[in-house]
Amino acid sequence: MVVGDVTTSTDVLVIGAGPGGYVAAIRAAQLDLDVTLVEKGAYGGACLNRGCIPSKALLNASKLAAEAGNAEELGIYADPTVALDEMMDWKDGVVDQLTSGIEQLCTAAGVNLLQGTAEFADENKIRIVHQGDGQGSESLKFEYCIIATGSRPIEIPGFDYGDEYIVSSTGALTLETVPDELAIVGAGYIGMELATVYSRLGSDVTVVEMLEQALPSYEQDIASVVRQRAENLGVDFHFGYTADSWAESGDEAVLTAVPADGAAHDSDIELTADRILVAVGRRPVTDTLSIDAAGVETSSQGFIPTDSRCRTNKEHIFAVGDVAGEPMLAHKGSKEGEVAAEVIAGEPAAVDYQALPAAVFTEPEIGTVGLTATEAANEGITPVTGTFQFQASGRALTANRTDGFVRIVAAKETERVIGAQIVGPEASELIAEIAAMIEMGAKLQDIGSTVHTHPTLSESIMEAAQNARGKAIHRHT
Ligand SMILES: Cc1cc2nc3c(=O)[nH]c(=O)nc-3n(C[C@H](O)[C@H](O)[C@H](O)COP(=O)(O)OP(=O)(O)OC[C@H]3O[C@@H](n4cnc5c(N)ncnc54)[C@H](O)[C@@H]3O)c2cc1C
Repeated sequence: MVVGDVTTSTDVLVIGAGPGGYVAAIRAAQLDLDVTLVEKGAYGGACLNRGCIPSKALLNASKLAAEAGNAEELGIYADPTVALDEMMDWKDGVVDQLTSGIEQLCTAAGVNLLQGTAEFADENKIRIVHQGDGQGSESLKFEYCIIATGSRPIEIPGFDYGDEYIVSSTGALTLETVPDELAIVGAGYIGMELATVYSRLGSDVTVVEMLEQALPSYEQDIASVVRQRAENLGVDFHFGYTADSWAESGDEAVLTAVPADGAAHDSDIELTADRILVAVGRRPVTDTLSIDAAGVETSSQGFIPTDSRCRTNKEHIFAVGDVAGEPMLAHKGSKEGEVAAEVIAGEPAAVDYQALPAAVFTEPEIGTVGLTATEAANEGITPVTGTFQFQASGRALTANRTDGFVRIVAAKETERVIGAQIVGPEASELIAEIAAMIEMGAKLQDIGSTVHTHPTLSESIMEAAQNARGKAIHRHT
């Protein structure tokens, strides 16, 4: 039973305090709008609480442990002991510091914060249900609304996250012990990052993937560098298999995977594991919002279609972040959040997705931005590419991390840079230079003639740009 129902009003209502929603709320408040932000869980959303930040904390900690234990080539002999509980405590401390910071930033900007679950009552009103029904609710009228309710992990039938052995990415980021054997369903970026964490910490990791490639949304030469390194870490892959069922056996689970395409494989496989991580993708959170009451349209998969100004089919309702579709990345949500707030304030803002970088924090990392050569050709642009292998980089050699390459893509006719793909050390950081260059309309010569510090990994970007113009100094084939 709902106790009490008071109706108040706000100019801008933001639903969800992840990187899309809290950024939208702060920017709208900076633009002197009256803003209310409703969050049902913890501030920071998936990114801070169960996504980017905890996964990167564990990737970093596990990397330290693995590198310290594998540095004999450098004359270093160490045998690190991992106390997972202490590592998790440290990771939780990082998360707590950041999430409390979000609340403070919102309050300092003048955003009204409300805790509870929002549901549309009509296209200008929501109902907010406080912690567990029966604890009271309130209604809020709004002039504008920004939906930023994010996404949650997809479950596969028969693999219930409530079961003892089955975990989602959220569960995998809070394990109490390192599994002896970890089975991972899905070789997308979340599966591959967590395979990296747990193989570095000593688990025997096996990945089952329906397609024939790890990281299927990346070009094959990029994905194969990461797969190769994962195999060197001890990760086993079964490509072309779908997880079908699992059963308890003693104190372990047995996962049965069946051929995804009978032509490629003719027999089922069985894997024993202490934990089965299901990482087969994420779905938008639109089904719990009573979104029909607002008249907001959703796609067959539940995403909210928007235009480049983040508007839904309703003029005054915007959607940002994961709920508004791929790519599901924190910085894409934040950019959209800023744009939605600026549009509401009457500014001429729009999202330009051309210079949107993406990173995968595997070993080695991947950083991409803009178009691949194939995508450029499909868009009718004749591409020219330039590559530089990290094997030829003095800095990569001094770091003992020489896998991978930088590839720059430009339009042949104008030499304007339109994309880049990097797989290798610090690719997540390096890609920022090319994103900035694309944003500024740079040409190959602009990058090739920019003086880069020596010895650095970023020199590889300059070399790749020069290579695309046939003028590389340090060629490596
Ligand atoms: C393991 C993992 C690793 C990741 N790593 C990266 C990475 O390295 N880089 C990167 O860019 N992205 C990464 N991501 C993706 C990133 O976390 C998401 O793209 C990002 O969090 C989306 O932001 P958002 O604001 O759209 O939604 P979310 O962060 O999902 O936030 C939505 C918020 O809305 C709230 N909410 C939902 N419904 C309601 C309601 N009805 N009423 C009130 N509140 C509601 C939720 O509680 C939540 O706090 C990762 C994700 C995972 C799972």
